[in-house]
Amino acid sequence: MNHFFLPSPIQSITVENKHFYLKRDDLIHPDFSGNKARKFHYFLQNNLPHVQKAVSYGSSQSNAMYSLSVLAKMKGWEFEYFVDHIADYLKENPHGNYKAALNNGMQCRLMEDGGWKMEDEENTLFIAEGGRQKEAAFGIRLLAEEIIEWQKEQHIDELNVFLPSGTGTTALYLQKSLSIINHHEVSQERGQSLIQVFTCPCVGDSTYLKKQFSMLEEDEKYHPRILTLDKKHHFGKLYRENYEIWLKLQQQTGVEFDLLYDPLGWRTLLAHSEVYTTKPTLYIHQGGLLGNESMLPRYERKYRK
Ligand SMILES: *Cc1c(COP(=O)(O)O)cnc(C)c1O
Repeated sequence: MNHFFLPSPIQSITVENKHFYLKRDDLIHPDFSGNKARKFHYFLQNNLPHVQKAVSYGSSQSNAMYSLSVLAKMKGWEFEYFVDHIADYLKENPHGNYKAALNNGMQCRLMEDGGWKMEDEENTLFIAEGGRQKEAAFGIRLLAEEIIEWQKEQHIDELNVFLPSGTGTTALYLQKSLSIINHHEVSQERGQSLIQVFTCPCVGDSTYLKKQFSMLEEDEKYHPRILTLDKKHHFGKLYRENYEIWLKLQQQTGVEFDLLYDPLGWRTLLAHSEVYTTKPTLYIHQGGLLGNESMLPRYERKYRK
């Protein structure tokens, strides 16, 4: 269970007759969800002998929650996770990330009065929702190094990278690492980087995502570029367009994508031809397939004829 498939492979795919490269971070570890393996890499690599317990919070089906349960199990830590709400149906019929996390020993607790009660214990590691914390930069820098290494092997001069965002932590640290590593070849001007990162907001709107970026990095020259669609989108809601593109991706590439982030990611990227027609474009598959266990039956009930 400790073997990580790194560097993750990169393959060529064709989507709607357009060529893309696909970085398979979903294959890094069978029990770790894609980019969470990157974000929590620091905790895996470093001995934290004082830590006995990890505490975090967020939604009851989150990929980060599940990956933290895997991390805690690997490390022999207790894992306490706070949610502000848990559906009766899920409680009575555990499935997906929630069930898998419980199986790894997660103790799930309801937040009280909208807050999460915790004592400031020395031996406790606190992890922000979705793994939005500075330590994430460590593993995401390795992702940046893998991309640059591959880019050189392929003799690709300029590259666009796209990945959909939740907290924006992965996109932000990826752009920052790529910019810093390439610094000596690159002028300070934004947009002249050899590798430009593009992303789209899946959880909130672009104002929310910009705020998230700023919380982790004030200097806007390190912020990824945000692409959007005209139509408003609510995280976790079902959209026919999302199900359709997800099916299409599977048919055209043979790859299973996640149902929460990737459909909006691909719809957004495909709507911005100025990105993928001007430069080779690399899409990052960030995993999350365990979440499909709960999303797919919902989609099938609603849309499958
Ligand atoms: C967590 C997650 C994201 C969002 O990552 P952020 O760093 O929070 O932007 C995207 N896709 C998948 C599959 C995820 O699990």
